[in-house]
Amino acid sequence: MDISYIINELAEDRENYFNAVAPPIMQTSNFVFNTVDEMRNAFADEYSTYLYSRGRNPTVDILRKKLAALDGAEDCLVFNNGAAATFAAVFANVKNGDHIVCVDKPYTWTQKLCNEILPRFGVTTTYVDGTSIENFERAILPNTTLIYLESPNSWDYKLQDLKAVAELAKAENIITVIDNSYCTPLFQKPIEYGIDLAMQTATKYISGHSDTLGGVLSGSNKMIEKIFNSEYMNVGSGIQPFNAWLLLRGLRTLPARLDRITASTQKVLAYLKHHTKVEQVIFPFDENFAQLALAKQQMKGACGLMTFVIKADNIMQIENFCNSLKHIYMAVSWGGHESLVIPKCSGIKRENFIATSKEHRMLRLYVGLEEPEYLIKDLEQAFEKM
Ligand SMILES: *Cc1c(COP(=O)(O)O)cnc(C)c1O
Repeated sequence: MDISYIINELAEDRENYFNAVAPPIMQTSNFVFNTVDEMRNAFADEYSTYLYSRGRNPTVDILRKKLAALDGAEDCLVFNNGAAATFAAVFANVKNGDHIVCVDKPYTWTQKLCNEILPRFGVTTTYVDGTSIENFERAILPNTTLIYLESPNSWDYKLQDLKAVAELAKAENIITVIDNSYCTPLFQKPIEYGIDLAMQTATKYISGHSDTLGGVLSGSNKMIEKIFNSEYMNVGSGIQPFNAWLLLRGLRTLPARLDRITASTQKVLAYLKHHTKVEQVIFPFDENFAQLALAKQQMKGACGLMTFVIKADNIMQIENFCNSLKHIYMAVSWGGHESLVIPKCSGIKRENFIATSKEHRMLRLYVGLEEPEYLIKDLEQAFEKM
């Protein structure tokens, strides 16, 4: 399916709403039935009917059809945020006594799920360095039922070979889930490589304007229906119609924004790479990136997020740098219009900072939609104040 068709036309039944170009926000909690029999049928199969908006809602459905098509999946669910999508994907596919193999250093709340919540239900996790397939092979136990991936990671951009992991998992009857947030389906389609469930936060690039949260989970009809009828309905973590509408609005410009950010990222990257106060830049499509060949093989693009290691003798130099930035904001998240920075040392007490540690001197930069020269000027004046 053509990406322009998916974004502009798919699932929009405009004749049903006065030929309006923008879809309506169906801000309703419930739906009326004319006969007992209609109501009976709805109770019997909520996945296929409008009954109550904790389940299905027409505005959310337009978004679901578009996002599933972008992922090349049969269906998808849209959650109130990405963490809820991960929770549902994992929880639906493990039971007491099961074991998960998870890639090293996944997103914070994925770690919390595996380390703090799942053990209470008798589910254990082994973390592996996902850069080699042998590490997955070695970690699999007879009770392993799920492999959780995040490729690339959003701090060091380490990748997993998606095809190889999917093949290994299929042979062992293990379900695979990936956090595809860095790439979005425009740059990577994990389902085409055999991954069962593709999760992404829609808070980042799909929204694109830092004004709503959202999370997507795509997969086969069978898997999505199962999750709909259990975790999705029971936790009640589905997206609200207004937020779904904001994501539909964001989707219209997603390819244009990714093109723009790709071009700006190259300029900022080139500037940082040649700066005397920068020790290293980490970016999946950089010529020095350790897994560049794999990145080029399974990703169509890379943009926005990069990490750089600043040359500093003490933590105050890094703090001075960050505190001096005027236009690049210090904040979590990414994918919006505004450029952002997070220094690793913001998670470290000053007395525990080790200047020789490369990790402690890392800063994650997100390049937004501003003019790249405007951002470079801001970085330059901040370097001068270090
Ligand atoms: C932000 C993020 C999430 C969580 O998404 P929310 O919408 O904030 O819940 C998950 N994975 C990655 C890589 C993220 O950056």
